[in-house]
Amino acid sequence: MEVTLTDDFKKLRSSVRELVINTLDPISLEVEKSSLIPEYVVDELRHLGLFGMPIPKTYGGLGLTTIEEILIYEELTRTNGSYRSRIGTSNGIGSMGIVYDGTAAQKSHYLPRIASGEWTSAFALTEPDAGSDAGNIRTTAVLEGDHWVLNGNKIFITNADTAQLFTTIVVTDEEKRNRGGVTAFIVEKGVPGFSIGATDIKMGLKGSHTHELVFKDCRVPKDNVIGGMDMVGQGFKTAMRVLDKGRLTMGACAVGAAQRVMELTIEHIHRKLASGTSKGDLQTAQFLLADMATRIYAARQMLHHTARMKDSGDNVTRQSSMVKVFCTETASLVADWAMDIFEEDGCLTGNQVEMFLRDVRLYRIYEGTSEIQRLIISRDLLSQ
Ligand SMILES: Cc1cc2nc3c(=O)[nH]c(=O)nc-3n(C[C@H](O)[C@H](O)[C@H](O)COP(=O)(O)OP(=O)(O)OC[C@H]3O[C@@H](n4cnc5c(N)ncnc54)[C@H](O)[C@@H]3O)c2cc1C
Repeated sequence: MEVTLTDDFKKLRSSVRELVINTLDPISLEVEKSSLIPEYVVDELRHLGLFGMPIPKTYGGLGLTTIEEILIYEELTRTNGSYRSRIGTSNGIGSMGIVYDGTAAQKSHYLPRIASGEWTSAFALTEPDAGSDAGNIRTTAVLEGDHWVLNGNKIFITNADTAQLFTTIVVTDEEKRNRGGVTAFIVEKGVPGFSIGATDIKMGLKGSHTHELVFKDCRVPKDNVIGGMDMVGQGFKTAMRVLDKGRLTMGACAVGAAQRVMELTIEHIHRKLASGTSKGDLQTAQFLLADMATRIYAARQMLHHTARMKDSGDNVTRQSSMVKVFCTETASLVADWAMDIFEEDGCLTGNQVEMFLRDVRLYRIYEGTSEIQRLIISRDLLSQ
């Protein structure tokens, strides 16, 4: 399945590569230390249109295909993963529910704001008793006149502090639950009864913040059901479709990070050789390097192949899970092997390998843990 990349796309990819080299990477360790992405950097990301990558052109986005988006994320994640998270959560899980299932009015009202980066969006599914088991969510919404009244808590919500819009998944029918009793809402920041808790202190991706959301008799206009009142009860399907796409994105982030870690390792081995270490003494390092390259090659091939299948209209649920589990586990292995090769230098705070090792570990948790991906794959195989 060959794909021809347009000149416009090639130009975009080069601009992203230059931005990473000249602007994002030089401050990546500073972003890690301060847990903050400077606003001028967010402006540069906006300027390139990255907040609107998968959003259709009609709504001001770039309208990229899946393979194009994947190739951009591979570039963008060759540095601190927090930059990608800020953008990718907004134009991915935060807004794709509206792209897929929103009404015409919702699309034309919200998508241009998100595509331009004027607004950021977030996706609120996880709760204290509902992470992997998303069907176990407890946050409820009850219709009272012209408003829905939401009560409950969400946790680990990326972008909560910068978002103006939260795609929020709640129970509207306790008996049916995820079989027709879950609904996706658009919750705007500032509606009565909605508040955001303290920033979580995470081990990695420190420039991308997660928070608790609290809904206490939170009043959301009736029209804010994604897809309108006909879609009440259909929110679980919307959420699963959104996550399906997110798994390929996570695969791309993992491949981009792994590639960069391998390149840092090659530079390190060259430095060792230049300072007089013999090739013989570096045999273990060379073998690990060969394993890195082999895993990354396999991961990238399956990622690109699946992205192209998706662009051709194929159902890629099983393949997306395979991509997520294989690529994210590859990134963790590669970062771990790099730590072996860098020895004591690698584990010092301020070494990029140490930052990547912590960042890529998180890729194995969100948008479905590795165990959940394996369940999806095996269930699909056994249902044939
Ligand atoms: C950095 C980060 C950002 C996040 N951003 C968001 C966000 O923006 N929006 C959002 O809604 N959520 C977000 N999350 C939450 C994330 O989606 C959940 O952490 C994830 O789904 C796992 O849920 P859990 O933490 O409750 O773990 P649990 O579901 O409690 O799982 C605990 C462990 O048990 C395993 N396990 C669970 N069920 C099974 C099973 N049936 N079979 C085998 N093993 C099982 C899991 O794999 C895991 O190892 C984020 C998380 C992180 C770390």
